[in-house]
Amino acid sequence: MKILCVVRNYAPHAGEMKAAVPKEPTFFLKPDSALNPKQLPLFYPDFTHDLQHEVEVVVRIDRLGKCIEPQFAHRYYNAVALGIDFTARDLQRDAKAAGLPWLVSKGFDGSAVIGPFVTLEELGRPISNLDFSLSRNGEVVQQGNTRDMIFAVDQLIAHISRFMTLRTGDMIFTGTPAGVGPVAIGDRLEGTLCGRPALTLDIK
Ligand code: MG
Repeated sequence: MKILCVVRNYAPHAGEMKAAVPKEPTFFLKPDSALNPKQLPLFYPDFTHDLQHEVEVVVRIDRLGKCIEPQFAHRYYNAVALGIDFTARDLQRDAKAAGLPWLVSKGFDGSAVIGPFVTLEELGRPISNLDFSLSRNGEVVQQGNTRDMIFAVDQLIAHISRFMTLRTGDMIFTGTPAGVGPVAIGDRLEGTLCGRPALTLDIK
């Protein structure tokens, strides 16, 4: 199983990172050891002083596919979840400045939090119109809708599968909207997907 994460897929987030909007989908991988699928508390890692949340809609692949055409991509998923792509922003910044890979800033243990998957049928909404949000200690910090993606889910799947075979169980973090920011020990993060509670996580 692999965890694929799309970068800068919402223009306002690219803006807040002072980064250009990519011309084609851009993605990276987290190892399977990063996964926290049971929303266990995240212990603030000792290697960072700037742990940040990025709330994202996560798509689960349920069929093997390679070089998938965009018009057929919808056949390769049926369920979504809310996830947090945790980022050690200071490590990422330092690595970027040094021109080095920033894998560890995104790939550490527990950096891929995922709530329970729900089918699109159950949500009663198309993949292209999912509202989602994240609140920190009761205050909404991030809000988005998948309609605002620069590259829609089917385009992401088409692009990624040109390079990497997608397998059943692979997950795609589809990018974060604006509002990423730091978390602190004692915080409680709560996410919603189409108005439903979709994730709760404590920082310890
Ligand atoms: Mg992200």
